[in-house]
Parts: sequence; structure tokens; C-alpha cells
Amino acid sequence: MAILVTGGAGYIGSHTCVELLNSGYEIIVVDNFSNSKPEALKRVSELTKKSFISYEVDLLDHIALENVFRENHIEAVIHFAGLKAVGESVEIPLRYYHNNITGTVLLCELMQKYNVKNLVFSSSATVYGTPKYVPITEDFSLQTTNPYGRTKLMIEEILGDLHLSDNNWSIALLRYFNPIGAHESGRIGEDPNGIPNNLMPYITQVAIGKREHLNIFGNDYDTHDGTGVRDYIHVIDLAKGHLKALEKVMNRTGIDTFNLGTGIGYSVLDVVKSYEKVTSQKIPYKITQRRSGDIGKCYADTTKANKELGWKAIKNLEDMCQDSWRWQKNNPDGYTEEIKELVENHN
Ligand code: NAD
Ligand code: UDP
Repeated sequence: MAILVTGGAGYIGSHTCVELLNSGYEIIVVDNFSNSKPEALKRVSELTKKSFISYEVDLLDHIALENVFRENHIEAVIHFAGLKAVGESVEIPLRYYHNNITGTVLLCELMQKYNVKNLVFSSSATVYGTPKYVPITEDFSLQTTNPYGRTKLMIEEILGDLHLSDNNWSIALLRYFNPIGAHESGRIGEDPNGIPNNLMPYITQVAIGKREHLNIFGNDYDTHDGTGVRDYIHVIDLAKGHLKALEKVMNRTGIDTFNLGTGIGYSVLDVVKSYEKVTSQKIPYKITQRRSGDIGKCYADTTKANKELGWKAIKNLEDMCQDSWRWQKNNPDGYTEEIKELVENHN
């Protein structure tokens, strides 16, 4: 019996695959590599010294996806596959709705057909919109401000309806806060395409000399230093949260939502200072206008995950900065580096 990991070659998926394999699970990965590279999976295998089956399959390709269900004994699904860039989702909403929502519906249809009703789904703190206060608990009202966020909220609702129609389903909706960091080996990490949208990959690219300076989007928020506050969580802690959620869905039926964060809010300047301290790299920055759609403060109340999953994030901001830097330093061009080296060695 295996765990199907959709989007397993991506940032959070690859780290979760490492944790799953290290804990003795058999895994099957499905990814269309639209935002990742097969090299990530090679490195997962190398790090864990374990092999696993992976399929280059798009969730929208119903026939190919059905083959995966036919060829394997799947016990549960961890569903990461999705498009995630907020700005892009505003420009091409239909692609986001089709990929994320249709992809999930097709996946669930096959799960139903093959009687696989255990599901862990990647949702996001973005479903809280602009929270009235912090820390945020799971029962806050939900409201989204962009197509990406709406895909997450709609999928949460679709999965709620599915469970209502058949309570043999066992589902965990995981609302991630801000995942950063990388595996401590420096072999797997976040590999964004083009100019990073998110803070940490932008900082690491400034540190490596790819970008001149960081633009800090506003210093007039109602926070301790005026810059935006977020709940940054180490990707390994987040990955471990998935294993706890998986245990939960395999041992009960029902549907539950969990915030996965640290419960601590750090400002942009806190992150910059911590990064400079642990890496001895200078991060030049300029204060610019607020980014449209940004909120001042966002951090989690993680009591529910602590109590009901027996999970707590343990890595601190310095660990996150150190591990992000190690990944960036060792892989200045992300996963393409090794391929380039191979080509160069051939010539
Ligand atoms: P990622 O882009 O690195 O990984 C997603 C993976 O899914 C990629 O490997 C991509 O190739 C694959 N994929 C996308 N559409 C697919 C399809 N139709 N068929 C097959 N594979 C497909 O993103 P990530 O940061 O690892 O995020 C994983 C999940 O967590 C996403 O659903 C994302 O929306 C959610 N999430 C991420 C964050 C974050 O800050 N990284 C925060 C909250 C929620
Ligand atoms: N941010 C910034 N400059 C950047 C990217 C992000 O100042 O180049 C700020 C952003 O305004 C927010 C915080 O860093 O306050 C985290 O932003 P990110 O995009 O990583 O996460 P999100 O806003 O989705 O929580």
C-alpha cells in the first residue's frame, strides 16, 4: 500500500517525500513538472537512499491518472499539485480555476472510483483574507481576494461537500502560513521560475548577487517596525505536519482543518536582520510602496494542530535562514546546475 503524492517534485512536496520515505512509507509521485524538475525527485531518492515510482502525469489527463490508480495500491493521497502564483492567477484566472479545481475534482473522482478516501490537501492561510485580528484560529471567517485564493477556498468547500455526501471520506485541510527554508543537506529547496514573488527566495537571490537589492513593500503598517509581519515556517516542520495529518486521516473518518505555522510573527526587517546575522551576507534594501493586496499582520494560532495532530513546529527563524542560504549557495541556478555541469563535462 502506497501514499500517492501529487505535486511531489515541487518545493513542499519534495521535502514531504523525504520525510515519508524516511518514515518507511512507500510513495508514488505524480507531477507534470510545470513548476518543478525531475532532478528534485532524483535528489529525494539520493537523500533517502530509497527508490520510488514517479509518473510525469498531468492531473487533467484523466486516462493517464487512472493508470496510476490501476497500477498501484494506493491507501491515501497527499495533494500538493496546483498553481500558486497570486499575481499570475489574476492575469490568467481560467488556467488557475481549471488546473487547481478541475484537477482536484478529477483526482477525487478517481479516488472515489478506486475507493481511496483518505486525503490530505494543501490549502493556505490566504483563505483568511484580511484577518480582523491575530493570531488566526481555524474558525475565522473566510474570504479571498484573488483567483488563486478562491481556488483554495472552493476546493475546501468541494471537499466538505464530498465528505457530507459520503462520510467514509477522511480529509485534512492544511492551511499553510509562510513556508521557507530547505532540507539541511542543501540538496533540495525552493527553485522559483524568474523573479521571485516571495520574500525569502528574493533575499537569497540578493545574497548570491543575482538581484541588486530587496524592495521592502511598505514600512507604514501597524507592526513593531512598520514592515509586514508573517508566520514563517520551516519547510521540514511543515513536511512533518503532513505525516501527522496523514496518520490522522488513516485512523478516522471526517474532515478537519488545521493551521500549520509556528504561531510567531516576524517582520520583513526581522527576517533581513536574521538572514544577515546567520549568513554574514549583507542584504541591501530599499523601502518602496506597499504591494497591492498585502496585509499588515498574519500569523497562526496553532493550538488545534498541536493538540489534535500532536505536531508543533520546532525550527526557528535562524534555522530557516541558514538552510535557505545553504540551498541557494550550493545551487545558485536551482536544479539546473547539475544538468549544466553534466553537459559541460561532456564537451
Ligand atoms: P510548487 O509549485 O513547488 O509545487 C507544486 C507542484 O505541482 C509542482 O511540482 C508542479 O509541477 C505540480 N503541478 C501543478 N499543476 C499540476 C497538474 N495539473 N498536474 C500535475 N502536477 C501539477 O508549490 P509548493 O510551494 O510546493 O506548494 C505546494 C502546494 O501548497 C500548492 O498547492 C500550493 O498552492 C500550496 N501552498 C503553498 C504555499 C507556499 O508558500 N509555497 C503556501 C500555501 C499553500
Ligand atoms: N515582501 C517584501 N519584498 C519582497 C517580497 C515580499 O517586502 O520582495 C514582503 C511582503 O510585503 C510581506 C512579506 O514580505 O509583508 C511576505 O511576503 P510573501 O510574498 O513572501 O508572502 P505573503 O505576502 O504571501 O504572505
